[in-house]
Amino acid sequence: MTRPLEGLGIHGGRRSRVWLHREPGALRFRTGGATIAADVAHVVDTERCTVLGADGARVAVVEHVLAACHALGFWSDLVIEVDGDELPILDGSAAPWSEALAALGPPPPPPAPWPVSRAVRWRSAASPGASEIDILPGEALLEVSIDFEHPAIGQQRWRGRRADYPALLPARTFGFARELAALQARGLAEGARPGSGILFTDEGTSGPLRTPDEPVRHKAVDAVGDLALLGRPLGGRVRIHRGSHRAHVEAMRHFLAHHPPLPHDPPT
Ligand SMILES: [Zn+2]
Repeated sequence: MTRPLEGLGIHGGRRSRVWLHREPGALRFRTGGATIAADVAHVVDTERCTVLGADGARVAVVEHVLAACHALGFWSDLVIEVDGDELPILDGSAAPWSEALAALGPPPPPPAPWPVSRAVRWRSAASPGASEIDILPGEALLEVSIDFEHPAIGQQRWRGRRADYPALLPARTFGFARELAALQARGLAEGARPGSGILFTDEGTSGPLRTPDEPVRHKAVDAVGDLALLGRPLGGRVRIHRGSHRAHVEAMRHFLAHHPPLPHDPPT
């Protein structure tokens, strides 16, 4: 067991602590005595973050720790224990989770990738600004693109393979100053503080970016985290334009409907 990571949840604004344990079995969260499998079937909400739930318990903002699990290859034998209902946002990136996981030593042997036998295309109903996700047979490659009407963002694109995922993890979450009050009125972003991500003002940013393309890199982190809920790497190409947690989860459900479980899936 590692020493806990601790901090405020960005949405609820409450302090929580997280311990990572190596324990045989599926990748899972534990909170308040309940165990919640880290899989698509346990997603209960996707408003601004990914929320898992089971037996009346919920745990929110699971995507950054799961991105680190995916990037470092921790697909099983790990319990993520949370003493609250939301993971701390920390610096807004997945880098602190990656450091905590690396301290556990090498990951267990990886599951075989999930072959993509047919193209799965998902489009959100809303338009313009609609999300588009394609999961395609072919080389395992992730392509993420975004298009924000903000002078410091605009159109950005990232593409890479699994070996490139660890380098994405320091990219921080971001938000817009003009949306912050509206989010807080809905009980979201209560824990947003300087240091918990990038705040884009009308003129620019609240501080220097880690890389000029940090926004699209963070969107890729969110995608890598959500894709971990499939339980194994995807052996195909994933193309995400204007993604969101809802879009990721809907597209994965669509994928699962067309790709039945493999005979040797890890136990859940
Ligand atoms: Zn994120």
